[in-house]
Amino acid sequence: MTLDAASEKPYGSGRQAAVVKAAAYRGLAPETTAFDIDGVVADTMRLFIDIARDSFRVQHLRYTDITSYNLEDCLDLAPAIIEAIIQQIIDGTHAPRLRPIDGCRRFLARFGKNGQPVRFVTARPEAGLIRTWLESILPLPADQIDVVATGSFDAKADVLQAAGIDVFVEDRLETCFLLSRVGITPILFVQPWNRCPHPFREVSTWEEIGALMAE
Ligand SMILES: [Mg+2]
Repeated sequence: MTLDAASEKPYGSGRQAAVVKAAAYRGLAPETTAFDIDGVVADTMRLFIDIARDSFRVQHLRYTDITSYNLEDCLDLAPAIIEAIIQQIIDGTHAPRLRPIDGCRRFLARFGKNGQPVRFVTARPEAGLIRTWLESILPLPADQIDVVATGSFDAKADVLQAAGIDVFVEDRLETCFLLSRVGITPILFVQPWNRCPHPFREVSTWEEIGALMAE
């Protein structure tokens, strides 16, 4: 069970990347760049830990325990509990707050300063709830916040290509490989669950993403 609607492929499958040109990583522009939400803008795994503690009295989870995107593979938790927590996140019924990742507000506001749409593509099954959350945290007008929910990881490539997106900031390494194979340049947002060898540019903070944005 993951946050997303699609079933997972076994980790390690299909891990071939196209050659990525270093120049593609510079001068990011709103017209050709998009962002994943969970794990990049939203601190969703922190919320997972908060729900586990508050609703299920699970005290022992640490952020660094989440070493795989497939939570059953890395957490000492019953699958039914993992599923119930993820359901709370998807339905928005959780008591703890979903918090933004440090720095995203400032740099996303700067990214949209000339009035262009700032684009987000999520593999969540529904856009509504996470769009409302983005509107609540970002200092941007609602009509500048563009959110597409694909319902699956595999559908992200088609959606991004159709929207003319060249660069995508993502925390799921398998999706980075997938996107690179159709000519989209991924930027990997470093998280404990994506610490495997890869050929992509990686960033650990929003300051680093900001440094890649066009002036
Ligand atoms: Mg993500």
